[in-house]
Amino acid sequence: MHKINYDDSTKIIKDTVRPDPATGAANSPVYLSSTFAQQDPTKLGKYDYARSGNPTRDQVEESIAHLEGGSRGFAFATGMAAISAAFLSLHQGDHIIVTKDVYGGTFRLVTQLLPNYGISHTFVDLNDKEALEAAYQENTKVVYAETPSNPTLTVVDLAAIAQSAHAHGALLFADNTFMTPLYQKPLELGADLVLHSATKFLSGHSDILAGLVVTKDDKLGEEIYFIQNAMGATLGVSDCWLLLRGLKTLKVRMKAETEGATELAGWLEQQSAVAGVHYPGLRSDPNYAIQSKQAASGGAVLSFDVGSEENVRTLVQHLRLPLFSVSLGAVETILSYPCTMSHAELDAGEQEASGITPGLLRLSVGIEDLEDLKADFKQALAFLPAADQERQVNYS
Ligand SMILES: *Cc1c(COP(=O)(O)O)cnc(C)c1O
Repeated sequence: MHKINYDDSTKIIKDTVRPDPATGAANSPVYLSSTFAQQDPTKLGKYDYARSGNPTRDQVEESIAHLEGGSRGFAFATGMAAISAAFLSLHQGDHIIVTKDVYGGTFRLVTQLLPNYGISHTFVDLNDKEALEAAYQENTKVVYAETPSNPTLTVVDLAAIAQSAHAHGALLFADNTFMTPLYQKPLELGADLVLHSATKFLSGHSDILAGLVVTKDDKLGEEIYFIQNAMGATLGVSDCWLLLRGLKTLKVRMKAETEGATELAGWLEQQSAVAGVHYPGLRSDPNYAIQSKQAASGGAVLSFDVGSEENVRTLVQHLRLPLFSVSLGAVETILSYPCTMSHAELDAGEQEASGITPGLLRLSVGIEDLEDLKADFKQALAFLPAADQERQVNYS
């Protein structure tokens, strides 16, 4: 049969709305079964025990694999469980190269847990070709990228890094949480494995924790399947169902959130109380060129600097709309303070080295009315002094 190459938005709906063959129910049932009855004592059926496979989880896993253009997808209890599973494909004595502004939880895993298993690491600015070349060792097995990064929205060139990793016999793992497969497809750019915290945009409603892995080839897919079943941190079926529910509206949510982020980033840049804005969708941003080459949009997350912790406190006190909390990628606008939230694991020196200044706030734009959001920021920013012109970030 001729296979139609549908647009991602059509793929999502086709993959997530699959009538139940038994009843015709438009939405697939939540298969709350840990065990499955067997017909043949000598040969088990497709499903036997739910850690090894469950039809509700299959649907999530097939949908994400299809969207990312990979061979296999795997659903885990959290993003960190997915990332842990990917790292469990390594062995004692292996070395990994990790992007220097990696997510705080991944930083903790790489620096505090993996060394116990004899897996060493080097943090590198992956855009610095010489530094990357110098970081490879004979035992380097993986280069780990995350783009755009959190919270400075630094973009790294996935195609260039994939080429470099492969030339050294290493694989490229890429955390695609911020872009989602709608805006960026790391496997097409050369990555071998993609990771998601589906807690964020893919589920999209701040209601569940979930993680996904997608592999490019079948061999790595088989390895991750073995690890998923062996370590056991699979995504529960009710959460699988909520993730399918979230996925259905991914496109419309991302579109509205991204439009809001683009508009707010440009507007914030012009406010006197704001010392600098990081958003790869802004032409004035140093990351714009690479971002436009490899991704379809700047995404829904930006960060901006109001100069000091005191100004952060004043702003947060006066804002009425954003939810001041950790996390991102939800229908509600979320404002976070990386210093004490997502990047509390880093000490002051490490924070400074990663560009996480005391005045930096991260904003994940939701689907509220943009004019309402702008008006709220306007009234709250009015309580802040004008940013020191000297300190203004110079993007020229
Ligand atoms: C949140 C996040 C994670 C971790 O995911 P959890 O679902 O919280 O375990 C990993 N990477 C990025 C980029 C994230 O934003």
